Amino acid sequence: MKPGAEIVQLGMDHRELPMTAPLRRVTLIVPVFNEEGGIGPFLAKVDSVIADLAQVVTFDILFVNDGSRDATERHVLAEAAKRTDVSLINLSRNFGKEAALIAGLNNATGDAVIPLDVDLQDPPEVIHQMIDRWTAGAKVVNARRSRRSGDTWLKAKSANAFYRIFNALSEQPIPRDVGDFRLMDREVVDVINQLGERSRCNKSLFSWVGFETVEVTYERPAREIGETRWNYWKLWKLALDAIFSSSTVPLRIWTYFGMMMAVVSLIYSLFIVAQTVLFGIDVPGYASTVILILVFGGLNMFALGIIGEYVGRIYTEVRQRPLYVIRSQHTSAKAEQ
Ligand code: UDP
Ligand code: MG
Repeated sequence: MKPGAEIVQLGMDHRELPMTAPLRRVTLIVPVFNEEGGIGPFLAKVDSVIADLAQVVTFDILFVNDGSRDATERHVLAEAAKRTDVSLINLSRNFGKEAALIAGLNNATGDAVIPLDVDLQDPPEVIHQMIDRWTAGAKVVNARRSRRSGDTWLKAKSANAFYRIFNALSEQPIPRDVGDFRLMDREVVDVINQLGERSRCNKSLFSWVGFETVEVTYERPAREIGETRWNYWKLWKLALDAIFSSSTVPLRIWTYFGMMMAVVSLIYSLFIVAQTVLFGIDVPGYASTVILILVFGGLNMFALGIIGEYVGRIYTEVRQRPLYVIRSQHTSAKAEQ
């Protein structure tokens, strides 16, 4: 017998039967940027996946239109008119996927959220396993790519290097090969929404918040429709953001390096003084002088550059600008419940 059924039988009003708890709702957060061709196939795929879960949870789909210049908005609105579970946030311009995702997290209303890409590179089938683990009590379910069949050799290698460097520097490591595709319980989303930092890397914030985390694996397919919006320059900037926003080790390196150089310099100075006293002034030494000037000039600039990275981020923080600007919002009836 289901818990609760007994109470109802004892109660006076039998019209309340059957008493089942309302299903929990999961919001799929989908950032889209110039993806007019992807909306239809994406929804078709998602529908086929969530149909099997109808007894377990309900879903709503929140598209965040990240300043698309094509007909993405129109396509989403057309779909939203046909169904009750689609809503749309239009950002005022292209703010980048990270910001679009935050806009989604701030506005999602579900009991859990799952951010996923519209290009089906985050296979919706994995949602099944995520929901299983969530209903079993996990607060965060990470989806780890077991094989990056969709990525080039260089991208896979550079991603590897990034994880290695990041995890060596940061106090809270981020799991390897886990992207934004993950399930997060409302409790976790509320904490993430409270983090007010401007220059941010979602992945590192997601792992920073903690909570009971489990993992499911999947194979990442190649992009089916459209083209990737990432290039190596953008990925490089993202990697720098990730490292500098989660670690102060690059700053501290210079403290130790400076201390080491001070000791070496002292020893060398003593040596020169002793040499001068014992053997008189030795004029030649042009090469070594120039080399020292060049080497230390270079290191000074590098160190200043690292400090600059942090100063720049401090500047971004103190300006307190919002991470994104919403132009309009179309909320479906179902999401408002
Ligand atoms: N995206 C976005 N804003 C951007 C770039 C991308 O909202 O400035 C969205 C894009 O529409 C897609 C997701 O982010 O749904 C992932 O983008 P993409 O497939 O280009 O990245 P990749 O899979 O290559 O990492
Ligand atoms: Mg993609």
